[in-house]
Formats: sequence, structure tokens, C-alpha cells
Amino acid sequence: MLVVDRLEAGYGKIGVLHGVELTIAEGEVIALLGPNGAGKTSLLRALSGLLPWSGGGASFAGRDLRGLGPREAARLGLVHVIEGHRVFTQVSVADNLLLAGYDLPRADRMRRVEEAFSFFPEIAEKRAEKGGALSGGQQQMLAVAQGLVRQPRLLMLDEPSAGLSPVLVDRVLGVVRALQARGTAVLLVEQLIEKALSVADRVYALAQGRIVLQAGAREADLPHRLERAYFGAD
Ligand code: ATP
Repeated sequence: MLVVDRLEAGYGKIGVLHGVELTIAEGEVIALLGPNGAGKTSLLRALSGLLPWSGGGASFAGRDLRGLGPREAARLGLVHVIEGHRVFTQVSVADNLLLAGYDLPRADRMRRVEEAFSFFPEIAEKRAEKGGALSGGQQQMLAVAQGLVRQPRLLMLDEPSAGLSPVLVDRVLGVVRALQARGTAVLLVEQLIEKALSVADRVYALAQGRIVLQAGAREADLPHRLERAYFGAD
């Protein structure tokens, strides 16, 4: 469904992604791992139209992603939940979700909001409260719920567990599993390697803007290979 072909991107003259190749099939959960500064966030940004490419290409569901902005990508079903995304603190939790589906027909929008709430009961309980009344962790879950309102075919989550308590981390991973069960693909950037591997089908590791490892998430020698990928040791 997603095919990334020798993708190059960077900031100004500084190249950050160097010939990235990656594929994701319908319904697959992929963990994207790698050390700080490897380019994981930049890859997500390049795919969702937030970072221009300087070479290579990518397609999603048979459509060329070149030149598409985040809204157009989301309309195709490629939805990016940005790291540290801020919710609207002054409007209600329910309105935060309604706003995420601002361009959908009203009946659709209501249905999708309820569906997103069904993944996060603790947020549904607070639907009438202001976004700013939620804890930091709950706001992060609300950001994921906003992504779900877009009914993604591929949801890209950038460190959804950052700053969450262990209980909330497990809740977010539970949502990833639930999405997988209903056939939604997930590209998960995560620092908690073991947690990420516990939900992933396959894993890619990026180091210095290059894919240095691609493997099944249950392969026996994966920890050793990941260590080499992270530290560059042979
Ligand atoms: P982390 O786990 O720390 O978030 P990452 O793997 O997501 O790291 P990126 O955030 O994509 O990595 O950063 C890759 C490289 O691009 C780093 O060297 C970083 O300094 C650089 N970079 C990121 N954002 C910008 C920016 N807005 N302008 C210039 N350089 C940037």
C-alpha cells in the first residue's frame, strides 16, 4: 500500500534522508526504530507532505505522493499524528474531534467521532470538558483519536508513548492492536523498542538517514541486529 523508493529529503542544503526504501502492506504494523536524530520524524514528515523531497519517490494506494500536502495525504487515508501535537485546549474534547473531521459530511463526522471515542473510554467520559482540562497523557491520546477521525488506512504515530505512564503506554499499544485487528496499517516511531516490537509485524531501523535493518519483529537474532544497527558495530 505504501511504497517508498530511494527517498531523499532534508532541511535546506542539509540532507537528512538518504535513499530510504520501505514498504507497508495493507493492515501491517511497522515499527520504525533508530537512534535520536536518525531521521524518523523527518521520514514521517516527508510522507505526509510536511517536508519536501529532493529525490526518489513514494506512492500510497497507487497514488503518487509527490507534491501532496498533509490534507491531501490524509484524504487518501495516510494520516500523521505529529509528535507532541497540541490539542485545542479551549474547546471541548468532543469539539476537538469534530474539528479533526471538519471537512466530512455531518453524519459521517458524528459516526467517526463516536468510533474514535470507542477506542478511548477515559476520553469519552470527558467529552464535555475542555481539551486543556485533560492530563498531558490524555491530551496525547486525544491527538491519536483526532487521527482516527480521519479513518486512516495507514496511521503514522510519532512517539505516541513519549511522556506517558506505563499504564497509558499500554493503552496506546492496545489501540494499535485494535487498529491492526480491523485492518488499519500503522507506522509506529517509538523509543521503547520492546514495546514497539510487541505490537509490530515488521521493523525497520534508520541510522543517519539510511535504512540499516529490515526484519520480522519476531526474528530470533533481532535484538543483536538492532544493537548493531543502533551503534554501527560489526
Ligand atoms: P528523534 O528520535 O530525536 O526525534 P529522529 O530520528 O526523529 O530523532 P529527526 O527529528 O528526523 O530524527 O532529525 C533528523 C536530522 O534532521 C537531525 O540531524 C536533526 O538535527 C535534523 N533536523 C530535524 N528537524 C530539523 C529542522 N527543522 N531544521 C534543520 N534540521 C533539522
